[in-house]
Amino acid sequence: MGLVVQKYGGSSVADAEGIKRVAKRIVEAKKNGHQVVAVVSAMGDTTDELIDLAEQVSPMPAGRELDMLLTAGERISMALLAMAIKNLGHSAQSFTGSQAGVITDSVHNKARIIDVTPGRIRTSVDEGNIAIVAGFQGVSQDSKDITTLGRGGSDTTAVALAAALDAEVCEIYTDVDGVFTADPRVVKKAKKIDWIAFEDMLELAASGSKVLLHRCVEYARRYNIPIHVRSSFSGLQGTWVSSEPIEQGDKQVEQAIISGVAHDTSEAKVTVVGVPDKPGEAAAIFRAISDAEINIDMIVQNVSAAATGLTDISFTLPKSEGRKAIDALEKNKGGIGFDSLRYDDQIGKISLVGAGMKTNPGVTADFFKALSDAGVNIELISTSEIRISVVTRADDVNEAVRAVHSAFGLDSDSDEAVVYGGTGR
Ligand code: ADP
Ligand code: ASP
Ligand code: MG
Repeated sequence: MGLVVQKYGGSSVADAEGIKRVAKRIVEAKKNGHQVVAVVSAMGDTTDELIDLAEQVSPMPAGRELDMLLTAGERISMALLAMAIKNLGHSAQSFTGSQAGVITDSVHNKARIIDVTPGRIRTSVDEGNIAIVAGFQGVSQDSKDITTLGRGGSDTTAVALAAALDAEVCEIYTDVDGVFTADPRVVKKAKKIDWIAFEDMLELAASGSKVLLHRCVEYARRYNIPIHVRSSFSGLQGTWVSSEPIEQGDKQVEQAIISGVAHDTSEAKVTVVGVPDKPGEAAAIFRAISDAEINIDMIVQNVSAAATGLTDISFTLPKSEGRKAIDALEKNKGGIGFDSLRYDDQIGKISLVGAGMKTNPGVTADFFKALSDAGVNIELISTSEIRISVVTRADDVNEAVRAVHSAFGLDSDSDEAVVYGGTGR
């Protein structure tokens, strides 16, 4: 039997009991004949608590130091997990991201993995150990500083290691039984998905379904690594994310027309008011934003008022980048030319994802009808081939998700989705 990479999220290792439970699961896989590499996240909400702490000593902590601080969270889990495994009579060794060969670029707080050289991990498992790796972190190739991969980045560590070690599968253990047709914390009648194609999962993840991080799915698709998302609290089969449908008994699982509904309240909207309606303006605005290394999501340009020749341009971005974006635009105000900036962090995004959208023109109309029946006002719209997203008031998001989920017949008529742990933070 081959090598498996297992990743345990923060809620799975939230306390000593959790760590002992996870240790037992890992030992079970080892006893079944696998070589096991386990990637761990920080315990519970440790990462959030460390960020809060940093902000108490400095309103905008330096990226390098914040990374140093945050990587401590995963180090605590990895060492405790190795101890718990040893206590069960098996040998385990823990490794930081840097020791595991996770090499990144030098963008602090959201570094990208550029190479994985897992020599030490390979040696460790070949010698019969269980290797435990701290997720979410790496080391910059250029500066040699410690970096982090962005929130939820342990998922990416796991898939990147699975690719580099040519693993059979990458198992992502979390606090729900798999990927559901909507966030089970919001939609009690959400259904577990048995299999989902990389493409649909990419869109769900990019639209806020944080059960898997977008970058991790991108990585898995590039290297064709099947992901099995499942609960560390139950023995149930979870969701397979892969390129080809799985077999279940003697029948093949089919691709759904609609995969699910995602929502996201982590973004804010910036509106650049009074922009001259002439070529080069959008380029100047988004150059300033990209020079500040900020990723944006949706963009809308309003028609210009004939009388003034001025227009407004709105875009959405992670709330955590809001301050930086405003500063970057203010700094370039003279060069760009605009009147003022508006910042709105009370927005939410709802997205419907499904391969069936390509061939079914009625989907868009039904989506808007469901939102209007729920009395939800739409502020921005964006689409891809297999996704439609709208921005609404943050307060409307949960209601809107439930309305859309029902309207597309996704509600389950049996068991309610179980959430085993976590605070949803
Ligand atoms: P972990 O700590 O294991 O990384 P996360 O909190 O990052 O866990 O991700 C699991 C959470 O993702 C679930 O508790 C659930 O609230 C949320 N979630 C959002 N969308 C979905 C979805 N479509 N299916 C399952 N879980 C989802
Ligand atoms: N601990 C990190 C976070 O909370 C990474 C992770 O959990 O994947 O974002
Ligand atoms: Mg996560």
